[in-house]
Amino acid sequence: MREWEKNIRKVVPYVPGEQPKETSVIKLNTNENPYPPAPCAERALRSMDLDLLRRYPDPAASTLVKAIAGFYGLEEAQVFVGVGSDDVLALAFLTCFHSGRPILFPDITYSFYDVWAGLFRIPYETQPLDEDFKIRTEDYERENGGIIFPNPNAPTGILLPLSEVEKILESNPDVIVIVDEAYIDFGGTSAVPLLEKYDNLLIAQTFSKSRSMAGMRIGFLLGNPELIRYISDCKYSFNSYTMNQTAIALGAEVIRDREYFSQCTQKIIETREWAKEEFRKLGFLFTDSMANFLFVTHPLYRAEDIFSALKEAGIYVRHFSHPKRIANYLRITVGTRDEMETLFSFLKQYMPKQ
Ligand SMILES: *Cc1c(COP(=O)(O)O)cnc(C)c1O
Repeated sequence: MREWEKNIRKVVPYVPGEQPKETSVIKLNTNENPYPPAPCAERALRSMDLDLLRRYPDPAASTLVKAIAGFYGLEEAQVFVGVGSDDVLALAFLTCFHSGRPILFPDITYSFYDVWAGLFRIPYETQPLDEDFKIRTEDYERENGGIIFPNPNAPTGILLPLSEVEKILESNPDVIVIVDEAYIDFGGTSAVPLLEKYDNLLIAQTFSKSRSMAGMRIGFLLGNPELIRYISDCKYSFNSYTMNQTAIALGAEVIRDREYFSQCTQKIIETREWAKEEFRKLGFLFTDSMANFLFVTHPLYRAEDIFSALKEAGIYVRHFSHPKRIANYLRITVGTRDEMETLFSFLKQYMPKQ
């Protein structure tokens, strides 16, 4: 190793799902929404004054913060926005997990958590999901430096009932508990009402999945005003202008269209429930996902083989070779009904034995 290399911060980065250049593929590998953003996004984009781009954006992104606060019936001081929830979660790790004690998260979960912990040198201990891939709340009763888990969990899609989320909060009043609600809008119950009762609760959400705006990069945190201010202080110590003018303007418009939002999420929920039946008919086993993806395995076919055959046929899904327990599973995003029909007709001819 060269001398200067010894001084480099070394990290093992997160590996995002593939974004193929080819646009004809059926893309069910990164949990994007198959429907376009609310129509008001296009109107807002077309009517944008490009002279705005000459100027720095509002560092507080107030227009967007106000719209999000309005949607959830919260105060503006309870909202923090950033460049996707990956950005706001990274900042939350940096700000909130500073005790030196290990933070806790499930062994099978969003694979960015251990990456941020590595980047910021935060010690962590993973807690094993039970044999049905469920979070055991007892595992989160030990001493710790903070807790994070997605609800529903990824990549299992399993929803932890709000009463159990509350149990975790009750047993951890002295640390920050982050609930990553990236997939909550597909049939789950948000922890937002618990904000009133728990000042150590931080909720992360995103425009990437349920609001069809992964390309715009908007994520946000909801929490008590003091906690939000601590996170803002860290942001202003790093980069004041995280949100660009376009994201602020379009995000603020899109979140106001409740009607379109509920239509889209409802369509995805219906397609998901129908897809569960189709997977069942083909002999797949799967968790009862409450997210916009399914987590499936087949007793007779290797996940890796199905993954490769699908890819060959222009259908992209996600396969995680680690941890070992999920190596024979595929995570398949719920696309449009048409996309899913193409998927099932391929699978039907691929797997004659069921
Ligand atoms: C997709 C996802 C995110 C991050 O989404 P952004 O596009 O960065 O907003 C965060 N947590 C989980 C569990 C996710 O699946």
